[in-house]
Amino acid sequence: MRYLTAQKVVSPATGQTGINSFRYAKAAVRSFELLQTADVGELEAQHVEVPPGGNDILCYLDVLAPDTAQPAAINEVLEALRKTWSKERRGSAEIDEVRALFVPGRTPAEAVSGELDGLVRGLLAVAAADPSPAPLETHPITILVSAQPEGRRYALDQESARRLRVVNGPEWQQASVSVAGDVAADFAKVAAPTFGELNHSLVLTLTGLDVLRLLANFGGVRFVAQPGGKTIWEWPAPDVRPGYCLSCHQHGTLRDAGPGTFVCAYCGNVQPTDGLWVAALT
Ligand SMILES: [Zn+2]
Repeated sequence: MRYLTAQKVVSPATGQTGINSFRYAKAAVRSFELLQTADVGELEAQHVEVPPGGNDILCYLDVLAPDTAQPAAINEVLEALRKTWSKERRGSAEIDEVRALFVPGRTPAEAVSGELDGLVRGLLAVAAADPSPAPLETHPITILVSAQPEGRRYALDQESARRLRVVNGPEWQQASVSVAGDVAADFAKVAAPTFGELNHSLVLTLTGLDVLRLLANFGGVRFVAQPGGKTIWEWPAPDVRPGYCLSCHQHGTLRDAGPGTFVCAYCGNVQPTDGLWVAALT
């Protein structure tokens, strides 16, 4: 199946709102009820207005369609949803195995129609988008980490920089970052128990890309100690378990963090369940 989703999100950090849309192919999921427990497939295209991570979802629109479905068929089911939706809590429509579900969340009644319009636009854009190019390489981008007297220095290895230039363009400026030990320690305190928040920000600074994009394009990213060559941090995180983050709505980003505690390795959200109960609500 093909799974498409458009989400109106707000960043609690910046207040920025926007619509993020994603399209997945080869999803094993067959129904919306199973969306949180099943494999949603391969990310094929995305349109992101608010950088993912820690955002709250205000409302969303999901579509499940056979892999062979054309954008016109998706357009058709969304028009049907538009016509039959009667300002109730949620709306759904189905035409020839193409299904749509709209969940307005806590959007005020007078604003719901406009929100649905925005979500439909976002979803259709990603439905018609060319697939993101398949990863050209499947070995991770490497960031070299060398110890200095007062902290650590982070820099891309040359071969990774060359591959990133293809994505970022010839104007892209390569940088290195030094982080003092006490700053890193402060970061760890602020981010606790979100180990990795500093690393996410370093990855973005050094590569110009978010870890999810690095995964899609290159198969991931890793920090490698110099000398020695030991991997000291990597994305995808090696210890994530199946589950669903209730904050950033990513699949497969949760870590066990003690009894009844799960931490999202991507956005740092701490939640008491693995997210599978969401299935019961939708
Ligand atoms: Zn998350």
